[in-house]
Amino acid sequence: MKIGIVGGGQLGRMLALAGVPLGLECRFLDPNPKAPAGAIAALRVGEFTDRRELRRLARHSEVVSFDWENVSVAALRAATRGSGTRIAPPLRALSIGQDRWAEKRLFERLGVPTTCYAAVDSRAALWRAAARIGLPGVLKTRRLGYDGKGQQVIRDHAGLDAAWRALGGVPLLYEEFVPFDAEVSGLGVRARDGSVALYPLVRNWHAQGILRLSMAPWRAPALERQAHRHVRAVLREFRYVGLLAIEFFVKRGRLIANELAPRVHNSGHWSIEGAVTSQFENHLRAIAGLPLGSVASVGHSAMINLIGRMPAAAELLRIPGLHLHDYGKAPRPGRKLGHCTLVAPDAALRNRRARRLLRALDLKLPGIP
Ligand code: AMP
Repeated sequence: MKIGIVGGGQLGRMLALAGVPLGLECRFLDPNPKAPAGAIAALRVGEFTDRRELRRLARHSEVVSFDWENVSVAALRAATRGSGTRIAPPLRALSIGQDRWAEKRLFERLGVPTTCYAAVDSRAALWRAAARIGLPGVLKTRRLGYDGKGQQVIRDHAGLDAAWRALGGVPLLYEEFVPFDAEVSGLGVRARDGSVALYPLVRNWHAQGILRLSMAPWRAPALERQAHRHVRAVLREFRYVGLLAIEFFVKRGRLIANELAPRVHNSGHWSIEGAVTSQFENHLRAIAGLPLGSVASVGHSAMINLIGRMPAAAELLRIPGLHLHDYGKAPRPGRKLGHCTLVAPDAALRNRRARRLLRALDLKLPGIP
């Protein structure tokens, strides 16, 4: 089966790799001729709004998917109209996943606890939001923000004007700053026949807004139950097909939803080696109309993002149980160039090896077990 994917980043590349053994052939559209997926699959170069290229992708595919959320909903809808080509995940989920404010409204409507928030479109509205919600807070662009880009933490009134100067001019969202105890994510996949599988809970550590480390399974049964309930509610709401991730803050044993991603997610990379069926394979199985694979974990995994600079492979591969993924991207500060996943037979050994790797990478993260 041929699958068209809008966006050919590392997520697309890992989707393409997962498709090979199943005979699922991914092809990509991306504006960057050097997009990582292009090294292993057919890549057409074009903007995400290029209707001709999108139509071409749809014509050559039975189903069209995407590897990040900032693709044009209108262009995608127009490109597939009348072609019989399906789009998965559903466009309504994509549309909501593009707008932080719409995400929060969805969470509220579904009874998924989220932060206090307000839409902000003027300096006065920002001051009003801060007065109602309180300080400190976080000002975020509603659209196109990722990896901590397009957001500012505001500690006091002086910071309000500075943040407005930095971000004002586009639709914004102000929300309470959550002094969280931890961050976790819930990943779930829903097939075309409505069956759902929920991955074990993942604990995440971010630095400068970028995910650095994920550990799974994270044994916290009460939190996992909450995460599974919330992920299931969102999957059901959209009659979703494919993989979905929700990131949560943990505060005093309760989950607070931060954002959702209607696609495969960085906090699920561990599942390539650490689960019976990876998030990438399960996404493809779902959108291709195939049965889902088991999401059970295989051992205990730690996934570490390699950002800005690729360490020498020989150094990393000396660590037992380590799997390296090099996305083949040109180095640039703050850019995700690859990741590695350690799989160990028990959590204590995983934690020990992860600490050793973090030291070797000169990465300090608070609260590592
Ligand atoms: P986001 O782009 O919303 O996923 O934010 C990236 C990271 O910034 C999160 O994973 C948190 O570590 C931090 N962050 C974002 N929003 C908040 C918030 N309201 N309170 C505290 N930390 C936040």
